[in-house]
Amino acid sequence: MRPIRTFSVAPSLPAPIERLQELAYNLFWSWDQDARQLFVRLDRRLWEISGHNPVRMLTLLPRRRLEEAAEDEAFMAQYQQVCAAFDAYLGEAGHWFARAHPEYPPDRPLVAYFSAEFGLTESMPMYSGGLGNLAGDHLKSASDLGVPIVGVGLLYHQGYFRQSLSADGWQQESYPNYDIYTMPLQMIRKPDGRPLSVELALPGRTLTAYVWRVRVGRITLYLLDANAEANRPDDRILTDRLYGGDLEMRIRQEILLGIGGARALEAMGIRPAVYHMNEGHSAFLSLERIRRTMDEQDASFAEALEATAASQVFTTHTPVPAGHDYFPPDMMERYFGDFYRSIKLDRSQFLALGRQNPSDEREAFCMTILALRTAAYSNGVSRLHGAVARRMWQGIWPHVPEEELPIESITNGVHLASWVSDDMAALYDRYLGPRWRAEPDDPTVWRQALDIPPEELWRTHERRRERLIAFARRRLRGQMEARGAPLSDLAEAEQALDPRILTIGFARRFATYKRATLLLQAPERLLRLLTSEEHPVQILVAGKAHPRDDAGKEMIRQIVKFAQDPAVRRRLVFLEDYDIATGRYLVQGVDVWLNTPRRPEEASGTSGMKAAVNGAINVSILDGWWNEAYAPEVGWAIGAGGETPEGDAPDRGAREAATVDRLDAQALFDILEREVAPLFYDRGSDGLPREWIARMQHSIAAIPANYNTHRMVKEYTERFYVPAAVRSTALRQDGLRRARELAAWKAKAARAWPSVQVEEVTSTASDHMPAGQSMTIQAVVQLEGLQPEDVVAEVYLGRVDPRGELRDCVVVPMRRVGPTPDGRFVFEATNVTPHGSGQFGYQVRVRAYHPDLANPFETGLMRWAAS
Ligand SMILES: *Cc1c(COP(=O)(O)O)cnc(C)c1O
Repeated sequence: MRPIRTFSVAPSLPAPIERLQELAYNLFWSWDQDARQLFVRLDRRLWEISGHNPVRMLTLLPRRRLEEAAEDEAFMAQYQQVCAAFDAYLGEAGHWFARAHPEYPPDRPLVAYFSAEFGLTESMPMYSGGLGNLAGDHLKSASDLGVPIVGVGLLYHQGYFRQSLSADGWQQESYPNYDIYTMPLQMIRKPDGRPLSVELALPGRTLTAYVWRVRVGRITLYLLDANAEANRPDDRILTDRLYGGDLEMRIRQEILLGIGGARALEAMGIRPAVYHMNEGHSAFLSLERIRRTMDEQDASFAEALEATAASQVFTTHTPVPAGHDYFPPDMMERYFGDFYRSIKLDRSQFLALGRQNPSDEREAFCMTILALRTAAYSNGVSRLHGAVARRMWQGIWPHVPEEELPIESITNGVHLASWVSDDMAALYDRYLGPRWRAEPDDPTVWRQALDIPPEELWRTHERRRERLIAFARRRLRGQMEARGAPLSDLAEAEQALDPRILTIGFARRFATYKRATLLLQAPERLLRLLTSEEHPVQILVAGKAHPRDDAGKEMIRQIVKFAQDPAVRRRLVFLEDYDIATGRYLVQGVDVWLNTPRRPEEASGTSGMKAAVNGAINVSILDGWWNEAYAPEVGWAIGAGGETPEGDAPDRGAREAATVDRLDAQALFDILEREVAPLFYDRGSDGLPREWIARMQHSIAAIPANYNTHRMVKEYTERFYVPAAVRSTALRQDGLRRARELAAWKAKAARAWPSVQVEEVTSTASDHMPAGQSMTIQAVVQLEGLQPEDVVAEVYLGRVDPRGELRDCVVVPMRRVGPTPDGRFVFEATNVTPHGSGQFGYQVRVRAYHPDLANPFETGLMRWAAS
């Protein structure tokens, strides 16, 4: 029987503690340990039963217990203290953003941050992995720093799937319906009490979506919900599952996220200056914003595109091809046929927005390319990934050298307070002082980690390892019970693992490039490692494979199969249903955090950062963030790395990949056997592994200071958000005046460009030049319809590598020295000096230039001297 009407009943709280409700509805508790403890203290068992969800917990608590708490002096004292801290947090005026940018009102949203997933707390399972956790941590740090952001995402009723394993280790997926009414969510309603809704056109019908609000400290996250009565049954389930369903489901979800998200903000009267697309899933928002600008300003598509792109930021997160959405042209036609006509494009102009090669009529429509073409600010998520992304998308700007492509890099971070254990936090309070919480991105704060007394650091860490082992045993027992294992096996769970031995953690999505089975390349060696008498090792593994990724599931099965060997079953444990809570236990308790991606496919990785702030040592392939964070005193690097992706390619052949895997596995075993295990067991007479502790201290002193989301959000703010706000405001003034001029200039430059030539280059260089001698280079340039101020001419000077290519180039601007009698222009650079000795060479180029370009290379209009 379905009800004819539903309504919610809020728990009635005794007056003295009525603010518990407000506290429960703000995820502040997810990183403030005092606020969290307040709820735990009310009823530890219900806290667990509720899945660490205080809203749900309050609905389950008997009134009697609440009344008791209201009369408990100690509880009330803690309650008052948490309320005061909460009020102070929300009311704080002198936070970083207010100090750095007093020109922006701190309570008017400056940025809208769009993401398909948000990992904020385990009780809101709306994430699948690193991307979601990054988005969640982004919002939390933005809240701490006072950066005025609103988040926009989707409300998944079933979230990502829940994982269990069959007896033979095959992943089983289940999709429980979560009760969103007992989550820290509130529906947005209109003044008359009815739900606020947004509507969008889908083929032959209209989709209605509701909007929910999540409070994340000072920040609000809005989630769209397609489960509205007005929708067709197959549309009502549109927001059931994250990354579930087929391509049709995916395009509809992305239409809802991008277009629906933009409309929801509009409907609530929220008009941010800047829009940040976290991954390409939300890129349809560009189309909606262009459409709206065309309507409101009576602008052309090109003009609206300039105004829109100027205010957009795009972050790409993976070099793995499966991580990018492609929609076939006919599907785009079905969903966007009316839309593209409404923005006055024809089919091929429209599809070109999502194509690397606009004239290839068969090329599918790629969301990443749409985002790159409609955001003036784009980035990868580590220095190495920035370089890989530039290589990957070079085809969009075919004449621009790879290193100058308009894709920058901002390295990921983590919200430290959300990941650090209470025990470590207490230690930091004592030895680093309160600034590690308020200014976690200040390196001087963390350098004091070198002064933490080694025995205290070690004792704290060992306590966390013990807790992890106890947690793992409980979970193991639960897994076995759920599978119907015999009692004898349940007893075995109590014996699994050992709280005193070297503990390695490996937990992440089981995407194949992450190579969770790298250690299984040499099973005998792994067996020896785990069962060593002298230096025993144990490994905890967790992670979900995407439901359609059989290769990933096979990896899980192999690990479980290996772990069934009685010789190792106590030393190798797979924890099912990896989530934020399991992740926290693991990073807080292990000695070593292992990461084995196939370089350079891990764009950044963040779990190692969470481990580092808890004193674990990273052992990782030099990929993603570790490629820039690694130093011998802070951890171990598996295999060779370097700053550039030279020689690595995501599309390398299978044979080559097998070789790389074998070599990486060997290198990993060598490190574990010869360095990691001996160092861990090298104990002084006091039982302390002094050298190991020193490494922990160096890791804590160096890594958290840089690899945190405070640093990251500040970088986004200074390099992207504020410049985008300034520039787009300027372009939009006076009815889009400068945007229109820029669009007109771009059209003119593009028309003229085929005839622009660098025609004659002369120089004072000789074949053999003494070191340090400079030269003058002149070029005669045919500009056709353009003026000299429409271009920049440059000398491109560098070393010549063995393949005859220019390397490590410097760019020397050329000066205009005058027109030639036949209407061409002469440019000149004097004092061009090669630095060092060896084989050098130069090229000369002109590129289109306009002062309002966000990035000098965004037009892709560049012409080199013919060689
Ligand atoms: C941090 C985190 C990740 C990301 O892990 P990587 O090793 O960086 O891929 C994935 N899932 C959960 C639950 C996390 O907490």
